[in-house]
Amino acid sequence: MRYNALQILVQAFRRNQGWERAWRDPEPQPYYDILIVGGGGHGLATAHYLAKVYGISNVAVLEKGWIGSGNVGRNTTIIRSNYLLPGNGPFYEFSLKLWESLEQDLNFNAMVSQRGILNLFHSDAQRDAFVRRGNAMLLAGADAVLLDASGVAKMYPQLDYENARFPIKGGLLQPRGGTVRHDAVAWGYARSADQHGVDIIQNCEVKGFTIENGVCSGVETSRGPIKASKIAVCVAGSSSRVMAAAGLRLPIESHVLQAFVSEGLKPLIPGVITFGAGHFYISQSDKGGLVFGGDIDGYNSYAQRGGLAVVEDVCEGGMALMPMIGRARLLRMWGGIMDMSMDGSPFIDKTSIDGLYFNGGWCYGGFKATPASGRCYAHLLATNEPHPLAGAYRLDRFLHGRMIDEKGAGAQPNLH
Ligand SMILES: Cc1cc2nc3c(=O)[nH]c(=O)nc-3n(C[C@H](O)[C@H](O)[C@H](O)COP(=O)(O)OP(=O)(O)OC[C@H]3O[C@@H](n4cnc5c(N)ncnc54)[C@H](O)[C@@H]3O)c2cc1C
Repeated sequence: MRYNALQILVQAFRRNQGWERAWRDPEPQPYYDILIVGGGGHGLATAHYLAKVYGISNVAVLEKGWIGSGNVGRNTTIIRSNYLLPGNGPFYEFSLKLWESLEQDLNFNAMVSQRGILNLFHSDAQRDAFVRRGNAMLLAGADAVLLDASGVAKMYPQLDYENARFPIKGGLLQPRGGTVRHDAVAWGYARSADQHGVDIIQNCEVKGFTIENGVCSGVETSRGPIKASKIAVCVAGSSSRVMAAAGLRLPIESHVLQAFVSEGLKPLIPGVITFGAGHFYISQSDKGGLVFGGDIDGYNSYAQRGGLAVVEDVCEGGMALMPMIGRARLLRMWGGIMDMSMDGSPFIDKTSIDGLYFNGGWCYGGFKATPASGRCYAHLLATNEPHPLAGAYRLDRFLHGRMIDEKGAGAQPNLH
């Protein structure tokens, strides 16, 4: 069933009783060409591109919970491509371009909203760093505009420009950045993959791998064993735990990241703002809630909830940036498990075990990467060669000193 205006009209006359299920609920088959472990954004996108671009549809996505239960449905929905280094910039710009045509590709309204992302700077040195970043973005084919304080004030008059410690001196704006409704991304990719013949199997936890003589030929699941020629793991925050079942140790730690939503307010923040003097970022949802977040909780955890110390820290960042936020009531908050790599950049690579592939280490920035990650992972699985834009995301880069330390300080957990 295609979604379009005529369909809405037809279904209205049928009292909305004629809508089909968005995807089937198949039983696992004994064998697939490719098994994707993890039905988050990246796993579902990989399935979609495998089927649509590479014509490989004897594929199953195995999800231990339900579609959307992981980070794809827990993030703060920001997309952007404001990266500095060659290994990252072109990849994230590719992703942003895929976002721009995603809804037509999937025939699904994911509410892609290019409302602009503004990174504030508060010192001359920080402005110099942002000028450099902006130039790197332009060279990578992205868009970037440098604003002074008056330019920022035209967009956001409510910010605290005279703050004694952190005066706002300007910002680097990426007008094509923005937000996307996160769970719609999972649903859109799932529906499209299913329509191309992929089996999406929920409530199916992978508990182990069948490995003989260095070759992986299947998985043990809570719904029985399944064989496959290739097994593609992309389980985000559970990466270390799942790969440990294959005997592999990853350069990844798992940490909690929290998100917060206020009560609904009248339109106040048209785009996305990041504070440059602390870890705080904010946007406003179409329902009016202020959506914001900050630092990871500083301890390793597999719990999808965080501690109060970080709640205080994030709210302090908000108060320093826009004191009026102190009058808004917090409506809800939650946590997700982040797969924090040791240089802040991800992995899309083969492993040392034949037939076993790995995608992870997305830290707290993997939502915006969803389309490019899926496309590049599908390329690796279909051709056994890395996609040219993801060639730097190798698992052995620490061994050879080829880290992609984006901020110079890294997003790595020990520096938070
Ligand atoms: C609070 C918060 C805010 C964030 N904000 C942003 C943002 O604004 N912008 C941005 O770009 N990124 C953001 N992120 C990061 C982003 O959400 C993640 O990097 C990205 O979603 C991870 O990829 P995924 O969607 O595939 O993960 P997930 O949705 O977590 O998918 C992994 C799936 O694997 C499943 N799984 C785990 N173990 C097994 C198993 N043994 N067998 C089968 N299935 C298994 C899980 O149930 C899960 O569904 C944020 C994250 C959080 C938590």
